[in-house]
Amino acid sequence: MLKVEAIQAGYGDINILWDVSLSVEKGQFTTIIGTNGAGKTTLLRAIMGLIPLKTGAIRLEGTDISRYETWDMNERGLCLIPEGRMVFREMSVEENLMMGAYPQKSRANAKQNLESVYARFPRLKERYKQLAGSLSGGESQMLAMGRGLMSEPDIILIDEPSLGLAPVIVNDIFDILRGLKDEGKTIVLVEQNTHRSVEMADHVYLMQSGKVILSQNAADVDLDALHDLYFAR
Ligand code: ATP
Repeated sequence: MLKVEAIQAGYGDINILWDVSLSVEKGQFTTIIGTNGAGKTTLLRAIMGLIPLKTGAIRLEGTDISRYETWDMNERGLCLIPEGRMVFREMSVEENLMMGAYPQKSRANAKQNLESVYARFPRLKERYKQLAGSLSGGESQMLAMGRGLMSEPDIILIDEPSLGLAPVIVNDIFDILRGLKDEGKTIVLVEQNTHRSVEMADHVYLMQSGKVILSQNAADVDLDALHDLYFAR
């Protein structure tokens, strides 16, 4: 469904991703793990067209999308729930959610999608008029996820949703991810929390220094061996 083929990309003259390849099947939960600076966020940015490729291709259902503009990606069914949430702080919860409904394909269903986001995240419904800048970290993460879901994505890319959150809130976030997986959504999760993310995954990639150093079915992953590789320098 989504194929990243030997891409190189980075920032200006600095290359970060070195021939990175990965493959995501429909309905699969894919986890990308790796230490700080491994290039996980850069990979998601490259998929979304936020940074240009130097070499390689990114194919969605066989079509090379690597030259498409970022704002076309939502229309094509890709959505990024970014690291750090990136909510519009001066806008209300509901206005933030409605911003997620801008792709043409999801506009007509915006009202109905809003209700389903509120059903999934009752806390957002309680706070629908509140400014996003006044939400807690966990609520902001839920808002970022809700905003992404408003675009009716086929593939959800989600970058370190547990970052900076208390363990009890991390449990809530993983429960939501589990729910999305059980509904058959295609999910690519970038995480540093190896236990939780591997447990939920169908396939696991481990990145280090801008390269994929392990690609394995989650059922075959030996967590001890994975941690040895993860912490190896
Ligand atoms: P983290 O878990 O810390 O988010 P990551 O695996 O997502 O790590 P990236 O954020 O992709 O890693 O960073 C990979 C490398 O790219 C790092 O060395 C980082 O310093 C560099 N980098 C990231 N953003 C930029 C930028 N805008 N300009 C230049 N270099 C950048």
